[in-house]
Amino acid sequence: MLYDVIIIGMGPAGISAALYVKRAGMTCLVMGKDGGALEKAEKIENYYGLEKTLSGSELIEIGKKQAENLGAELINAEAVGINWDGNYKIETTSGEFSTKAVILAVGAPRNKAKIEGLTEFEGMGVSYCAVCDAFFYRNKTVAVLGNGEYANHEIKELLPTAAKVYLLTDGKEPESLAENVEVVKGKIKRLYGNGKLQGIELENGEKLAIDGLFVALGTAGAADFAKKIGAETENNRILVDEKMKTSIPGLFAAGDCIGGLLQVSVAVGEGAKAAMSAIEFVRKS
Ligand SMILES: Cc1cc2nc3c(=O)[nH]c(=O)nc-3n(C[C@H](O)[C@H](O)[C@H](O)COP(=O)(O)OP(=O)(O)OC[C@H]3O[C@@H](n4cnc5c(N)ncnc54)[C@H](O)[C@@H]3O)c2cc1C
Repeated sequence: MLYDVIIIGMGPAGISAALYVKRAGMTCLVMGKDGGALEKAEKIENYYGLEKTLSGSELIEIGKKQAENLGAELINAEAVGINWDGNYKIETTSGEFSTKAVILAVGAPRNKAKIEGLTEFEGMGVSYCAVCDAFFYRNKTVAVLGNGEYANHEIKELLPTAAKVYLLTDGKEPESLAENVEVVKGKIKRLYGNGKLQGIELENGEKLAIDGLFVALGTAGAADFAKKIGAETENNRILVDEKMKTSIPGLFAAGDCIGGLLQVSVAVGEGAKAAMSAIEFVRKS
């Protein structure tokens, strides 16, 4: 099935967007992997219309029911990849879904590793997208930094072309494991190279020579998705115009992932704006 709009993120921004998409008579799939930032909020009392204080979790449940009542399809799934082949393809832990337009509402960027050299070697051996960059590492030695489903997805993209793939967990236990990958569990001290990445040094002094490092920590965050599809980002937030349009046609973003005032009311408003832009895009396509 080809959806009109897929929304990645089931927080206030994503759910608000879904309400508008559904009321425009369009098909809409909303996916989320957990309760996002709002789940962590013990009490919400600064959002319009709340007669009594609610917990973040209570507000999430109300929003989800409201979207479902309007016919939105909600699934628990983690998005791990995004591609375009005439339509958008969203790869998730529950299969692949096609859509005409995408709204990213994945919350604030997390999981930025503080490892010496990581930023310095971005684009010089450090990549955030295996689908985009695996080609440049044919028959070379690469590593994926991460330990969950997202890291596994990137490993699977790299295995057919790279000579060797390591999984670097930076001191963590791997949650699931692709075959044919060598796991290095040591804490990483730094990345080294000479203008171009040459390897990593572990805290125990061991060195591992690699040509490329693919960062896939935790789950794919806002900037990871944006970078995968070539949308512009700045300091890990997605750049959008006043209509929530990214630099890529058919790709919109809203909520904490675009920065600014990180509040429920703002996320809800931006979700509405992103939806209106997505609706206009789908109608014209
Ligand atoms: C402790 C705390 C207290 C707060 N208190 C308040 C308050 O009192 N008032 C207020 O207005 N705001 C408060 N906030 C801020 C508020 O929670 C956020 O601004 C708001 O939740 C942002 O909404 P969002 O939809 O952009 O992101 P989020 O609520 O973070 O939702 C992100 C969604 O994206 C999903 N997602 C992320 N990555 C993926 C992926 N790869 N695949 C699939 N799904 C994915 C998540 O599962 C989640 O559903 C608080 C935040 C915190 C952390």
